[in-house]
Amino acid sequence: MAVIYEPKGRALEYSALACNLYLGCTHACKYCFAPSCMRKTPDQWHADANPRKDIIQSFEKEARKLADAGEKRPILFCFLSDPYQPDEKKYRLTHQALSIVAKYHLKSKILTKGHTDIIEPDLPLMKQAETELGITLSFGNDTSRREWEPCAACVEERIETLKMAHAMGIRTWVSMEPVIIPKEALELLETLTPFVDHWKIGKLNHFPDIEKRVDWIAFREKAKSILDDQGANYYFKKSLTEL
Ligand code: SF4
Repeated sequence: MAVIYEPKGRALEYSALACNLYLGCTHACKYCFAPSCMRKTPDQWHADANPRKDIIQSFEKEARKLADAGEKRPILFCFLSDPYQPDEKKYRLTHQALSIVAKYHLKSKILTKGHTDIIEPDLPLMKQAETELGITLSFGNDTSRREWEPCAACVEERIETLKMAHAMGIRTWVSMEPVIIPKEALELLETLTPFVDHWKIGKLNHFPDIEKRVDWIAFREKAKSILDDQGANYYFKKSLTEL
């Protein structure tokens, strides 16, 4: 199976190509879909993060072929694990993959909720490779963030990384998914748009008891109004448009 692959279904709303560098993710988000995709329990998937066997060699081989074929679609890192989780400091897989992307002039996108000190050293490389840096942000309040994303970076740190990258001229995007507390998400839209080149917004899924307490159409319309007022670039996921 190719390590650079075409995602299926709703993952396509994020990217036409993707690559998973690690097996496992220690950020341990409560809403994480990766354990069920990988037929693991959350405890198993979130216990550690291990490099996939020969991942960098395989990635380079496939990247070279894609470059020879003139591939223009960006490769997203990653769907099933965070590319900047703590063990990236040890393994540097994301750093190596981005270096290969730069070498072959491919396009790429990062999606992370990692800590600034792990991401920051790679910002010059992202700038060189024209990588789009995506940060997941849907909580404005770190109490909520701790409850749902216990081992990921705090809200302030993610905002700091976003602003730093934007100031360097890196194209930034925010994955505002899953929205769980609409009030906090709307506050982020009000304040962060000057630093965000693209918003991707989706609701919580698979938690029916929580979902039914929210008027999602009202949330979508309010979010749309805030974004339109600021001239923002955005995409609502089908989970919000097909209500
Ligand atoms: S960062 Fe992503 S892959 Fe990792 S636990 Fe959270 S949702 Fe799952």
